[in-house]
Amino acid sequence: MPDRPAPPSDPRSADAAPPVGRFAPSPTGDLHVGSALAALAAWASVRGRGGRFVWRVEDLDGPRAVAGAAERQTEDARWLGLDWDEGPGVGGPHAPYWQSERGGLYESALARLARAGRLFPCAVSRSDLRDLASAPHGGPGLPPFPPALRPAPPADGWFEDPEARADRALRFRVDGGPVSFDDRVVGFVEEDVRQTTGDFVLQRRDGVTAYQLAVVVDDLAMGVTEVVRGRDLLDSTARQILLARALGGAEPVYAHVPLAVGADGEKLSKRDEGLTVRALREAGVAPEALVGWLAEALGQPGAGRRAAADVAASFDLSRVRPEPVTVPARLAAHLRAR
Ligand code: GLU
Repeated sequence: MPDRPAPPSDPRSADAAPPVGRFAPSPTGDLHVGSALAALAAWASVRGRGGRFVWRVEDLDGPRAVAGAAERQTEDARWLGLDWDEGPGVGGPHAPYWQSERGGLYESALARLARAGRLFPCAVSRSDLRDLASAPHGGPGLPPFPPALRPAPPADGWFEDPEARADRALRFRVDGGPVSFDDRVVGFVEEDVRQTTGDFVLQRRDGVTAYQLAVVVDDLAMGVTEVVRGRDLLDSTARQILLARALGGAEPVYAHVPLAVGADGEKLSKRDEGLTVRALREAGVAPEALVGWLAEALGQPGAGRRAAADVAASFDLSRVRPEPVTVPARLAAHLRAR
């Protein structure tokens, strides 16, 4: 199937249908300032244009999920002033909104890719690939999956045969040339997935659906037209575009907002416990003080305390700068004084 480019779409043109955005956190802990930055941007960008907003819980990675974290994340988002038309506590036409309950959809997407010849069972493990990386050109990550390790085309009907899938991951077969997209924050991006990751895993050997597949299947099923998320996911985007096209869909518009970093320039981590929305809330920060600070960090005009709805009314993605946002260590004190 050719990877044809999607028709051009400009979400700002007057006659465009209302946009559909989403926020899709993994429930691995409380929302930190960086996640709040992405959540506010995703929400305000579609709300300001009368669009629909979806909240989805990405809880496929069982061992990393923390019990109760999804509920705490949605509580904290509501405290900030965000809301959603579809998602936890609201329901909606594309339920369920927990990925762990959407396995049937992922399996049927895999079946379609298998029928189209874009999927193969693979016994090559990460450590096999890591061994290849000790070759002179191997960088710090895994080398791209070498096409020479693709198995001979499996017999028709292999997908339905448990034997053919036993103890195998399922990989997407990457064909075609470089993928490019115009990120609303980062600008023009081009990536040749054959050179970066090569054929990538859509279902792990233990049967768990990979993030890359779940996110694309869900964004297509939920009619998402605009993906606003953290910069750490920029290098997943080309793979997701290939998948969306292979599944017969059009990719959304992308905007990767900057990461929040500490005063040392490092990405915020568990270490920075005081920099979660929950901790700021418990330290007596007003939601409008945090929202105002986030909006400023997102390059929006206006200063001081602001309600989320007020930020949405004039929100413009094109004002978001790509450079990392530095979060003062004493953010709570700074915000209480605003
Ligand atoms: N679940 C991912 C995360 O929490 C985000 C996925 C996405 O926005 O595409 O990092």
